[in-house]
Amino acid sequence: MKIIRATEMGMCFGVRDALQIVNEVPNPTQVTIHGELVHNPRVIHQLGVAGFVQASEVNRDEAAETPVVLITAHGVSDKERSRLNSSGKQLIDTTCPLVRRAHDAAMKLAAEGRHVLLIGKPGHVEVQGIVEDLDRYDVVPNVDAVKRYDSKRIGIVCQTTMPSHLLDQIRSEIAAQNSEADIRFVDTVCHPTKRRQAAMQDLVQQVDAVVVVGGRNSNNTRRLAELCQEHNVPAVHITCAEELDAVWFDGFEIIGLTAGTSTLDSTIDAVHDRLEQLTGGVKPITGSARVSGSGVEQHLNVNFSQT
Ligand code: SF4
Repeated sequence: MKIIRATEMGMCFGVRDALQIVNEVPNPTQVTIHGELVHNPRVIHQLGVAGFVQASEVNRDEAAETPVVLITAHGVSDKERSRLNSSGKQLIDTTCPLVRRAHDAAMKLAAEGRHVLLIGKPGHVEVQGIVEDLDRYDVVPNVDAVKRYDSKRIGIVCQTTMPSHLLDQIRSEIAAQNSEADIRFVDTVCHPTKRRQAAMQDLVQQVDAVVVVGGRNSNNTRRLAELCQEHNVPAVHITCAEELDAVWFDGFEIIGLTAGTSTLDSTIDAVHDRLEQLTGGVKPITGSARVSGSGVEQHLNVNFSQT
C-alpha cells in the first residue's frame, strides 16, 4: 500500500508561535490559559503536567485565580481583553495576527455603518471574539442560514478556517437574497488554511481513502474530513497513531495523510510510521483502486458529528 502525504498540512505558524511563547513562560502555575491553546488533547495534557491552569472554552468568563492570563491564538474580543485588564490580570497575548486581521476587518465594516455578516461556526471561540465587539451582526454557518437582512449596507467577513468553496456559495446566496444592498466582502480566510485546502484538493484526486489527524473539536480538521466526504473519498479522523486499526484500510491501495493546524509534526510522523506498519501486509486489490460511498465510510468508522 502506498501512502501519500498532503503537500501542506499540520501546524500553522499561528499555533507554532503560540506554543513557542508558552514554552518560554517561566512560571506556568501562575498562568491561566484562556480556553484551549490548541485543539490537541496531547498538548493540553502536557500543559496541565507543566502546571498551567486551563479554563475550558465554555467557562472563559469565570474569574481566573492566577495573576496572569494567556490569550490563545484564537483571540478574544476587545471587551473581553478590557474585562481581564480591569480585573487586574497581566495578559500574555498569543492571538494570531491573521485572527486579529479578521477582527479589524469586521470592526471597519461596522464603522462604515454596515450590518456585519460573519461566515463561520456559531459559538466558535474565534467567532465569539469577533462578534462580541459588534452591535449588529449575524453569524452565517451555511447557505440555508442566509436570509434577507434588514440593512442597505452589508459587510461580510469570514472565520479564518472557512473552506473557500463553501464561502463562495454563501456569498452568492447573500447577494441573491439581498440584491438591493451595497455589499462589501473582505476575505479573511488565512493563507495557511487556503494552502492546506488546496493541498487537500490535490490529495483527494490521488488516493482511495484519507487519514485526517487532529483534535476532535478542531474546526479546520473537521473541514478537511468534510472535504473528503464531498469528493466521495472515505476518511477517518483520528487524534493519534494508537487509534489506527488495520481493518479500516483493507481493500485500499493508496492512502492519503493530512492533518489539521493543531497537530504536532511528531504526531503526524507517528501516524505515518504506524500506517506503514499496519498496512504493510495488506494485499492490494485489483481493478479500480477507488472505493467510494457511505458504506465504506461506515467501514472506516467516520463519525462527523463527533468531530
Ligand atoms: S489557522 Fe490561520 S488564523 Fe488560525 S492560528 Fe493558524 S494561521 Fe492563524
